[in-house]
Amino acid sequence: MSVAIVNAVPRDGAVLGHTDEPLAADHIHEVSAARLRQTRQRYTRGRRALVQQLLDLDGPATIQELVEGGSDSSTSSLYRNLAILDQCGVVHRVVAVDDTRYELSEELTGHHHHLVCRDCGRVADLTLSDDVERALTRAATQASRTSGFRVAAHNLEMVGTCEDCAVS
Ligand SMILES: [Zn+2]
Ligand SMILES: [Zn+2]
Repeated sequence: MSVAIVNAVPRDGAVLGHTDEPLAADHIHEVSAARLRQTRQRYTRGRRALVQQLLDLDGPATIQELVEGGSDSSTSSLYRNLAILDQCGVVHRVVAVDDTRYELSEELTGHHHHLVCRDCGRVADLTLSDDVERALTRAATQASRTSGFRVAAHNLEMVGTCEDCAVS
């Protein structure tokens, strides 16, 4: 399994290398609704169902997976809802090996990393220990000192083979 440090997109309010406690589901819906209200968007039944669907998954999902596992929303309304939730900072886009995938923003679900299967493209969430996160924060500080680059956030991607692909 190789470890690659990919660029992390700084988001406002994101805390560098900090393991934030994930919010409870009810609170996630409240925060999502509030964020949409800020841009005069409504937290419709479809958007709420989509947030719940992402909440129930153990990793970022492709559009196809969301369509297959979703309720009644059409693909076009799914795209529209994802775009609006993305604009409001509720949903975050992850560029994966197979496709673009979507997950809830770390501010809602807590800081984490990803396990990426290079055979099937599946991406699973990975939470690292506080010790490792602290070491990563120190590494970022060191990198800032030597390169002058100001690290705002980080995201690790561990690339390998998932359990299903390993047996076949
Ligand atoms: Zn981290
Ligand atoms: Zn796989």
